[in-house]
Amino acid sequence: MYYQKKSDLVSRPHFDVASITEGILKGDIAALGRGITLVESQNAGHTVMAQQLIRNCLPQGVPSFRIGITGVPGVGKSTFIESFGQTLLQMKKKVAVLAIDPSSSISKGSILGDKTRMENLVKEQNVFIRPSASGDNLGGVARKTRESIILCEAAGFDTILIETVGVGQSETVVHSMVDFFLLLQITGAGDQLQGIKRGIIEMADLLVINKVDGDNIAKANRVKADLDNALHLYPKKQSGWTASTLLCSAIENRGMEDIWHTLTSFESQTKINGYWKTHREEQNKYWLLQTIEDRLKKDFFNKEGVDQRLNELVTAMADNKITPFEAATLLLKES
Ligand code: GDP
Repeated sequence: MYYQKKSDLVSRPHFDVASITEGILKGDIAALGRGITLVESQNAGHTVMAQQLIRNCLPQGVPSFRIGITGVPGVGKSTFIESFGQTLLQMKKKVAVLAIDPSSSISKGSILGDKTRMENLVKEQNVFIRPSASGDNLGGVARKTRESIILCEAAGFDTILIETVGVGQSETVVHSMVDFFLLLQITGAGDQLQGIKRGIIEMADLLVINKVDGDNIAKANRVKADLDNALHLYPKKQSGWTASTLLCSAIENRGMEDIWHTLTSFESQTKINGYWKTHREEQNKYWLLQTIEDRLKKDFFNKEGVDQRLNELVTAMADNKITPFEAATLLLKES
């Protein structure tokens, strides 16, 4: 059991990559926490050390299942992870929970919250829970989460749950780093798609209707039929997998085993048809290109004089002296 508090992040300024690596490879959860703190650090020196750490850990990771979990606030994500986490532990899995919270990067607030969530799961051995990384943009937070996955796998965690709030871009980001994408839904919120964009349903490998307890049961069956019908309308997935809908009650710990069986079917099916491996390779390529793009952009805007010249060109555009395309061409040529 280990829960990394935000306050730990400031009180441990000294890092030693060799000992953190050694600790992580031994499965020492405190070392894993420190490693992730290093990965998350904005300090330039730390970034170099973090890259070394990741390089050390990358070849040592255990085979893992990376699972994305999303849904609107209040749908029951943390309650679900509490409950599903217990099922995973019964299956002798080592479970790491990481979060991507777009609100914490944009407004510094947090929808997922820094409070200790999943209070029971946190007490278990073989569980590591880390609140969302903070940062000034979603891309940066996403990169840190991806690197944290590598450290968790080197520490022996074979099941990685990545939680995100279903409010926008963050699902796409999570989708780009997981093997399986699970969308939580509830009945009774009027529109059963609950403001979730079509694209997110399309990404999902499994829809799970949560809170199927008490008065909700009959209604949930109707919603399930509607969702199953809707799923038929989507194009066939590249993975060859057909998404379906399951019901659960996180609070009553019901439905978790069916969800687990669906996950294992997905794993065996996509390992047999080759998609599992191809998909991870494609994700690596995506992250390679994404990193190049981020670096080029950062290097460009950090160049001396770019800021000032940009302002001049914006004024020139406002005066209709230059078009945005010409201004961009000029700035790129001059810098
Ligand atoms: P999150 O914002 O998606 O992480 O949602 P939470 O896990 O914090 O849950 C939001 C609320 O829904 C809490 O009051 C939970 O107790 C409740 N809740 C979660 N799962 C269930 C469930 O299976 N059944 C019922 N009846 N309530 C649930």
